[in-house]
Amino acid sequence: MIPLPRPAVYVTRRLPAAAMRLLEETCQVSLWDELERPVPRAELLRGVADAEGLLSLLTDRVDAEVLAAAPRLRVVANMAVGYDNIDVAACTARGVLVTNTPDVLTETTADLAWALMLAAARRIVEGQRMIETGAWGPWHPLQMVGVDVYGATLGVVGAGRIGGAVLRRGGGFAMRLLYHNRHPAPELEAATGAVYRPFDDLLRESDFIVVSAPLTPETRGMFGAREFSLMRETAIFVNVARGPLVREEDLAAALRAGRPRAAGLDVFTREPIGPDHPLLSLPNCVCVPHIGSATLATRTRMATLAAENLVAALTGRPLLTPVNLTELVALELAAPSWGRGATDR
Ligand code: NAP
Repeated sequence: MIPLPRPAVYVTRRLPAAAMRLLEETCQVSLWDELERPVPRAELLRGVADAEGLLSLLTDRVDAEVLAAAPRLRVVANMAVGYDNIDVAACTARGVLVTNTPDVLTETTADLAWALMLAAARRIVEGQRMIETGAWGPWHPLQMVGVDVYGATLGVVGAGRIGGAVLRRGGGFAMRLLYHNRHPAPELEAATGAVYRPFDDLLRESDFIVVSAPLTPETRGMFGAREFSLMRETAIFVNVARGPLVREEDLAAALRAGRPRAAGLDVFTREPIGPDHPLLSLPNCVCVPHIGSATLATRTRMATLAAENLVAALTGRPLLTPVNLTELVALELAAPSWGRGATDR
């Protein structure tokens, strides 16, 4: 029997071995074989020319230009739960499936949100810097005082998988739990005891505000001068979602003025930020380099899930975690692709 040709896929970074093995068993893999450096744009456009599948990272912008360069493309498997780097509407219009990697990173990212909450509240980074610079003087009653986490009020904006996991951890700290989404979430309320609040009320009432909403046109710039002015002077603001949800200049001004008291940030508008970034110069701002999902186990699970989605899409098996399947099916029912010319797709 003549073996069927393996589908060609383009992978935009060297992935953990388990994910590469999965891909290589079924596909003909072309790879941007670097770990640290994102694929240059021109290389990506060349790489997708024959590809039926693309495994992308959040550093890759998958837009109309990429789709135009990839006439055979059938699936984009993003190794992230967020997919703001992908023009999903353009993919859907072209009949291209999009998948992401939800769930497998939820607990890891919630842990990081808590690390930032605790670090900002108890001035962990500032304390280490104090020792390193020889500024640690004799113990005194107000030396490095912070704010309590135990028993405080935690408000989560974007309480889905990650936000829900952040809230669950709050139970162990005897916190009062609030959340804000576009829609009330009765299951979350039943599971955590969290109470729904309109956006402004949550900002006013919370001691800790954690952001874990996706980046969408609606959430871009959601936190600016007005929102920071509503927060308590003692509030701690934590962003583990995406940088552009926050107007960084407004946050820097607010932190300088002392409302909110401190912030913990995993994500920034333009990543990577350099050592001259204004937020880094503020002692009350803890900054880490987008490490929400960065444990070896979780990154391996994310890469493997992305690979499984890619292989499933190209071998006609059910997708594990599709993003636009419903929209694609609706489009197919409305205008079957067998009735359209190849150029329409
Ligand atoms: P999810 O389960 O879809 O949760 C997102 C939540 O945000 C939902 O509850 C949604 O509820 C709410 N939401 C959406 N739009 C909103 C709006 N305009 N205002 C208020 N709430 C809104 O997603 P997830 O798995 O928890 O991931 C959330 C995000 O975290 C991802 O999109 C990604 O950008 C980010 N993330 C970052 C890292 C990192 O490394 N720092 C790691 C993983 C994920 P409604 O639909 O009811 O509004």
